[in-house]
Amino acid sequence: MGERIASWFAAGHRPLPWRAPDFPAWGVLVSEFMLQQTPVARVIPRLEEWLARWPTPADLAAVPPGEAVRAWDRLGYPRRALNLHAASVAITERHGGIVPSDVDELLALPGVGPYTARAVAAFAYGSRVPVVDVNVRRVLARAVRGVGEPGPARTNEEHALTEALLPADPARARLTNAGTMELGQTVCTARAPRCDSCPIADACAWRAAGYPAYTGPAAPRQKPYAGSDREVRGRILRELRANELPVPRDRIAQLWTDADQLERALRGLVADGLVEIGDGGFRLPMH
Ligand code: SF4
Repeated sequence: MGERIASWFAAGHRPLPWRAPDFPAWGVLVSEFMLQQTPVARVIPRLEEWLARWPTPADLAAVPPGEAVRAWDRLGYPRRALNLHAASVAITERHGGIVPSDVDELLALPGVGPYTARAVAAFAYGSRVPVVDVNVRRVLARAVRGVGEPGPARTNEEHALTEALLPADPARARLTNAGTMELGQTVCTARAPRCDSCPIADACAWRAAGYPAYTGPAAPRQKPYAGSDREVRGRILRELRANELPVPRDRIAQLWTDADQLERALRGLVADGLVEIGDGGFRLPMH
């Protein structure tokens, strides 16, 4: 099954920048941070701007973390920008400015979890390690386990299942990793899988079983954005991004009518290190 996915992917995949063989490891790391919770189409332009401005980890490490938060703009979940900045500092200080290739060293970087560490090792350095994202989880659930949805994460089992699919040759394994992600993103989609176009249709356990309805536990769902603390945090950060000088409290107070919720969001941003108090107002972090 893994070889067939590799051949399908090699025969014609989308030309995503971070899939190019000569794309720098730093670019792969930045793209994986951005892709964690943001769709591809929104990531591509921001990634190009980011790498033009900070072509190496040392370039990003040299500016205040608030600049990373400002440049993150509206990609969402801005703690990723702070973590990426902290990772650039760690890479510069501990690894001589070179993104490490070892999964354990990658895992020790701020904001790098099991998925991102393996994605960088596999796609930037060609290591034969299983890369499991939400799309891979869905393909595994259907094709291998014969269930319609992946349900809550089963990290160890899913790594083992993916590893079993990887060809022995690291270059082919890289294609299988990327191809399984692509298959889940473009063919084996959550709502409408296109089994007629699927390279592993005749081996798919879920299809062979007649597509039984999923009865297992549901994966946790994200709460709606509108009216949430996330929306309030987003409004505050948008105001701070647009201002080089600290924004006074009375201007922040105009951003949201529910004063308690606004205060909670503001305190959360300060606690997360995304906002600093200083010089008579609130600003993006300078240190
Ligand atoms: S046959 Fe259909 S359900 Fe099975 S892996 Fe392919 S697209 Fe997904």
